[in-house]
Amino acid sequence: MRVLRGLVVTFSKPTRVLSRAHATLTQRSFAETFGQQNRKCPLCGFFQSGDLLSPVSRRGSAVGVNVRTMAAFGGRDDDFIFRQLLDYKSFTYTYLLADRTTSDAVLIDPVVEMVNRDMQVVKDLGLNLIFAANTHVHADHITGTGEIKKKLPGCKSMIADVSGAKADVKLKHGDTIKFGKFELECRNTPGHTDGCMTFVWHQKSMVFTGDAILIRGCGRTDFQQGNPQNLYDSVHKQILSLPRHFMLFPAHDYTGQTMTTVDEELKYNPRLSKPKSDFVKIMKELTLPYPKQIDKALPANMVCGAYDLPAEATTN
Ligand code: FE
Repeated sequence: MRVLRGLVVTFSKPTRVLSRAHATLTQRSFAETFGQQNRKCPLCGFFQSGDLLSPVSRRGSAVGVNVRTMAAFGGRDDDFIFRQLLDYKSFTYTYLLADRTTSDAVLIDPVVEMVNRDMQVVKDLGLNLIFAANTHVHADHITGTGEIKKKLPGCKSMIADVSGAKADVKLKHGDTIKFGKFELECRNTPGHTDGCMTFVWHQKSMVFTGDAILIRGCGRTDFQQGNPQNLYDSVHKQILSLPRHFMLFPAHDYTGQTMTTVDEELKYNPRLSKPKSDFVKIMKELTLPYPKQIDKALPANMVCGAYDLPAEATTN
């Protein structure tokens, strides 16, 4: 098992940061992006119908869910910091994790257009961002790791070795990412892509699943080495085998929800709660559009975002 520790880059004094409005943006932007009539997400194939929304979302109080989540996991009275940051164009969640005592921090799945926002949060909280990790080679957005490294040269990019992508640190199954007194366990979870990796924060019962499992859904398996049999095995062996109270934080959500649990997905995931043969049939019968961003996202993400990006891709 490797234990990875990073360099330290220091920012100024911490201030309070809130992100109360992001669920509202989620709800509004889905309609703007995909249209009121098109309720099928082009990325995961998940229908955004009222039937599949949680009772809380159906009552239109998704913001309340977010506020509760932030209050529960903001960590201001604890020994850690947790921020769930949304890119409201690709509906990608970026996660900032930190040790409050040492200020060492890790960013998971940054999006290039949101790097300035992410860097401001890091600065405001007085954190030392030592790692920027990707759960996989994304097809729907360009990773922010290349831009972050330009702004913070001491920050190291990370991605699974199996992905074949370039990064400062090529992660292997069983590696441990250390930040302060905390650590993330790296677990290979192929199926959406070969190089998908899930990060397990055992100390806080939190799991960052990328696209392997989404809230009541999962990543598509019809391109980028996708394989439904592998995805089913990965999710059940590496994620849904964790204690049932463990909280799952996916790379995307298109309904305004922010997290789920092992227990919920074992009970209610309309795909992964079924037998493997049923799951494979469901995934093979999905008819999903070609991702809009894939042609520019894949080449950039294979070099972890260290790429000659168009100017508009780095402004926000
Ligand atoms: Fe993906």
